[in-house]
Amino acid sequence: MNTGVERPRWAEIIAVGSELLIPPRADTNSLYLTARLSDIGIEVRAKTVVGDNRADLESVLRDALARTGIVVLSGGLGPTDDDLTRDAIAAVLESPMAEDPALLEQIRERFARRGARMPAVNRRQALVPRGGVAIENPLGTAPGLWIEHGDGLIVALPGPPNELMPMFDRIVDERLAPRAGPDRVYRRVIKTSGRTESEVEEAAFPIYGAWVTEPLPVLTTILASPGQVELHLSVRSASADIADARLCDAVLQIVAVLGPDVFSTDGRTLEEVVGDAVRARGWFLAVAESCTGGLVSARLTDVPGSSDYVSLNAVTYSNEAKVSWLGVPGDLVRDHGAVSEPVALAMANGIRQRAGADIGVGVTGIAGPTGGTPAKPVGTTVIAVTTATTHIVRTFRFPSTRVRNRQFAAQLALDLTRRLLAGVEAGPAFVVASSRAGEPT
Ligand code: ATP
Repeated sequence: MNTGVERPRWAEIIAVGSELLIPPRADTNSLYLTARLSDIGIEVRAKTVVGDNRADLESVLRDALARTGIVVLSGGLGPTDDDLTRDAIAAVLESPMAEDPALLEQIRERFARRGARMPAVNRRQALVPRGGVAIENPLGTAPGLWIEHGDGLIVALPGPPNELMPMFDRIVDERLAPRAGPDRVYRRVIKTSGRTESEVEEAAFPIYGAWVTEPLPVLTTILASPGQVELHLSVRSASADIADARLCDAVLQIVAVLGPDVFSTDGRTLEEVVGDAVRARGWFLAVAESCTGGLVSARLTDVPGSSDYVSLNAVTYSNEAKVSWLGVPGDLVRDHGAVSEPVALAMANGIRQRAGADIGVGVTGIAGPTGGTPAKPVGTTVIAVTTATTHIVRTFRFPSTRVRNRQFAAQLALDLTRRLLAGVEAGPAFVVASSRAGEPT
């Protein structure tokens, strides 16, 4: 073991559970653990997913302890025979387990509070390897374990994320942070829409590429999801003020080159930014969706308090619904097709008027995999945003599968709404046609 627990810099994570080795379950706990460790300057060097097999678990744990000062395990602390984490730790550390009477009482009480008798199998959960202490789990029966052994530290936590997260938060705040040294990692996220990942990289790299070698380096990672590209900036420092000043300066430099394609530097999502802009005007918003099937509406109403500004959202999937319910003129659909700028505009105006809202959004497109034509291939999507005095409409061609094309469409619908409210032009990414904004419709 090469790292003292006194100043831990590195950690490893072991996710225990055979279900995590096959679809559809994924190990998400390690993402949370990594982020929290990184906050206090502890870097995760390796992660392992291991099935419910005692020999495998012991071997993975032994190797991790040989490399790293801190090993965090998740899962396998339940009461049943395939919950092996406790036994594997005891075997690797060669520490016999002893029943902790206080812990046993806590587990009994937990059952009693629900009017139930503790099943005999749960007694196992009161076993603690010598030298270890139990960590309270307020949301479940499986307690965690904190075990210091020589220079090494093992933290074992139950698998359910809703139990693991608050337990680990407390461990970080109360036990790990005080011993982790003065450095903390500070972060800012710059969120953009309207440019592809390579366009963002091309504009921003000449700036952030130089930061790495400066006296207080800023590390930058680019993350892309459909229609959104994020720059994640981080600084390691013992001073929150110094880190904050450095990050503010870095954010300003990036915003200067990406301009209005940046929609958030304060953690807000696109739907929050749009909602705040609508609320600031005292307006109401209404959305008519076709190919996105409610995704735009779901994102808008995910935001707490969105009833302040969302009035009426509708999924008008068939041509008939567009005509009869939104009042889209039938000849527009006949002459231009359902996926066309005149129809998108009529959808936006139709829902706005029907809802008595101030701003209307219409989304119509071909998500695929079928339904494309040479003139309108799969991915073609038209989005319109209208108010009583102005509008913006764009035809996009998204390059992906049905699921992702719908995500692209929802993202760009929110982005065009943001742009209309802010009075900024739409970015060029994925646009294949556009009328000019501004004319009443
Ligand atoms: P409990 O006794 O409460 O079940 P446990 O420690 O035995 O605690 P597991 O049985 O290993 O936990 O896992 C319980 C559930 O927690 C799993 O079915 C899975 O849904 C979730 N889970 C486990 N490990 C992870 C992980 N690494 N990432 C995300 N979810 C996980």
